[in-house]
Amino acid sequence: MSKIRMTTPLVEMDGDEMTRILWGWIKEMLIEPFVDLRTEYYDLGLKHRDETGDQVTIDSANAAEKYGVAVKCATITPNAQRVEEYQLKEMWKSPNGTIRAILDGTVFRAPILVNGVHPTVRTWKKPITIARHAYGDVYRNTEIRIPGAGKAELVFTGDDGQEIRQPVFQFRGAGVLQGMHNLDASISSFAHSCFQYALSTRQDLWFSTKDTISKIYDHRFKDIFAELYEQEYRQKFEQAGITYFYTLIDDAVARVIRSEGGFIWACKNYDGDVMSDMIATAFGSLAMMTSVLVSPNGQFEYEAAHGTVTRHYYRYLQGEETSTNPVATIFAWSGALRKRGEMDGLTDLQAFADRLEKATLDTINSGTMTKDLALLYEGEANAVTSRVFLEEIAKRIQAGA
Ligand code: NAP
Ligand code: MG
Repeated sequence: MSKIRMTTPLVEMDGDEMTRILWGWIKEMLIEPFVDLRTEYYDLGLKHRDETGDQVTIDSANAAEKYGVAVKCATITPNAQRVEEYQLKEMWKSPNGTIRAILDGTVFRAPILVNGVHPTVRTWKKPITIARHAYGDVYRNTEIRIPGAGKAELVFTGDDGQEIRQPVFQFRGAGVLQGMHNLDASISSFAHSCFQYALSTRQDLWFSTKDTISKIYDHRFKDIFAELYEQEYRQKFEQAGITYFYTLIDDAVARVIRSEGGFIWACKNYDGDVMSDMIATAFGSLAMMTSVLVSPNGQFEYEAAHGTVTRHYYRYLQGEETSTNPVATIFAWSGALRKRGEMDGLTDLQAFADRLEKATLDTINSGTMTKDLALLYEGEANAVTSRVFLEEIAKRIQAGA
């Protein structure tokens, strides 16, 4: 059997701990036997990030920008304890934050659905993808604890000396005050990423804010989305048979709960933070959540939404065979291979991505899965180790090949 050919390399960002172990197994057992895999490899494992002064993270993001498609393993974001554990030179920043800053992208998170694991919301039949704007608002706020009576004002002083001044409140006693900002450029990038991703996955796009209350701030978000949609995307959406739909955040919540799923829900930073946890939990398991960073220029970086599964890794180091769920990491690979195939016009690579996903889902649907899923599964579940689970998937790919 000849292997499937690739023409452009994938940018491969290796990572840490248990997910790094799974990463190697997924390549060895599920991809390399079938695909003549070409990657440009970057080792984002914490040790190597430290050795390179984190340059490797920057290099990998630049490579993602150059080639257009990357696949990333979960990585440790160092804290004080990790600085000690790895004897780090510095408390390096989150790789995801660094990569996102370079690609200027938006993160889209979607659950993988399987039979036997039912969403908490009965009507949901298809995944709901959350797109969270990852800049500004309350995450970059300035806050004051007001000690007592006095006048609060909002003041902008332009570089040209122009001043805009608005009263906020006349305090009669103690209280609190906060200032927030956002940028047209950042909101536009967010909007482009959302429209691009909707087209790329052929799903409707919903966007929600509270523009009836926030008549300038939130309204700016609504307007920028509407302008870009009219200027650049309406025709493409109509051709793709998908729609763009704006509504108030509270109306959106009610509609989401009544819906069947199968759309992208774009949210402002805070709304996205809250709603993504709600959606993830209601669909089942963090280990079944995929994540893709989409730049406004249409570059894609695929990963699992979960972390490096440290607790399992320490058990693995003790010689234990763990039952860590590799599904979200497999789907990061299939997502990246499919996108590479689309960009390079390689239909057999796209078909392989489909086959890899189908083999994974078929394995679970036949009752064989890792422990975390077995706990949620309604029906007879055969809980196996990660390696046995991967072997079962490999057999199915082979049988279907
Ligand atoms: P985590 O790695 O997601 O794991 C938290 C817990 O969730 C695990 O202990 C495990 O529960 C369960 N879990 C998560 N993924 C699983 C999987 N694939 N299969 C089975 N169970 C799974 O989060 P964390 O422990 O908070 O963080 C660990 C490290 O990951 C940290 O250093 C953090 O910086 C990093 N992190 C990286 C990313 C990223 O690169 N995108 C994201 C988040 C966190 P049980 O132990 O109960 O089985
Ligand atoms: Mg959160």
